[in-house]
Amino acid sequence: MKILVTGGAGFIGSALIRYIINQRQDEVINLDKLTYAANLDSLETVSLNPRYSFERADICDRAALDRIFADHQPDAVMHLAAESHVDRSIDGAGIFIQTNIVGTYTLLEAARHYWNRLDTERKKTFRFHHISTDEVYGDLADKNALFTEETPYSPSSPYSASKASADHLVRAWHRTYGLPTIVSNCSNNYGPFQFPEKLIPLMILNALEGKPLPVYGNGLQIRDWLFVEDHVRALYKILTEGRVGETYNIGGNNEKSNIEVVKTLCTLLEELVPNKPAGVMKYEDLICYVTDRPGHDLRYAIDSSKINRELDWRAEESFESGMRKTLQWYLTNKSWWRRILNGSYHLERLGLNN
Ligand code: NAD
Repeated sequence: MKILVTGGAGFIGSALIRYIINQRQDEVINLDKLTYAANLDSLETVSLNPRYSFERADICDRAALDRIFADHQPDAVMHLAAESHVDRSIDGAGIFIQTNIVGTYTLLEAARHYWNRLDTERKKTFRFHHISTDEVYGDLADKNALFTEETPYSPSSPYSASKASADHLVRAWHRTYGLPTIVSNCSNNYGPFQFPEKLIPLMILNALEGKPLPVYGNGLQIRDWLFVEDHVRALYKILTEGRVGETYNIGGNNEKSNIEVVKTLCTLLEELVPNKPAGVMKYEDLICYVTDRPGHDLRYAIDSSKINRELDWRAEESFESGMRKTLQWYLTNKSWWRRILNGSYHLERLGLNN
């Protein structure tokens, strides 16, 4: 299969491409605008593979999309390109509306026009898989409740509202035009190659430098955590075995409060990095509580029984082993994140090496 992956230079997209190139036989076309969140270093191990190619493009640019569909003739689209950081969406929602809503609409239209011209057989097997988040469901007030595929949408942040809009557009393109779409909604991912603005890498890098570990509010907000390599296996299964027009929730069965996550990391750091930065007695002493994020949802928890049952997928990595692997990865790949922290990963692509 030829799979057009949007956002393949991001955290989950790059994990997906490494998985497909290393463990599957398909071809991948990575379509990415290369925003601040993208990092082609994450694809170093696959970039020379003849089954991999890269197209720098914006999903809002219809002419570029039409050209890429025509040139590559993909059998499927896996759509991950998005603005993905909730805090940034609160500071400035415009780019989230543009990329996540207008971009998804533009991609759907390009895909639909391409799909309409395919022969009957390829038309039937073509897939448009939209990758989304459990944040579209909003806050879970009842502490025993779980998000199912039928839970009504109630997004709280500009980010989750923009993803919810995109999900609705994808479903409408299936219902109205017959485009063979599938949507998946996943909980918080963590693992190697995650951009250091997200909770877990931010805490790791701050701790290694002896900087404060800022936790929002009282730290009791609960999220479900999924190791990124489990997520990309699920995505591939959904693409290849999932039913058209359906939604699949994906979760790790790992509900943790933010403070538990940070304390788990501190314990692992004590074990793996006993030589602490100057002035630090215990990593936990670096924890500090900061003003809560506006509109912060208290709890997300996901019911993955549909994907378990229908596609025989389940998360394999426990939270403890996934966190250990993640920390070990950041400890042995310092050059990857140092190039992000000093900005050189981004300047090079702008042609500004110094
Ligand atoms: P990310 O921010 O790491 O990567 C996003 C990628 O999209 C980047 O490479 C960026 O350059 C690209 N991109 C952004 N705007 C673009 C545009 N206009 N045109 C083309 N490319 C563009 O995000 P991620 O964490 O890898 O998330 C990937 C997808 O999965 C997103 O759709 C996100 O909503 C969803 N998701 C993420 C999580 C999570 O925990 N990270 C959980 C569930 C769902």
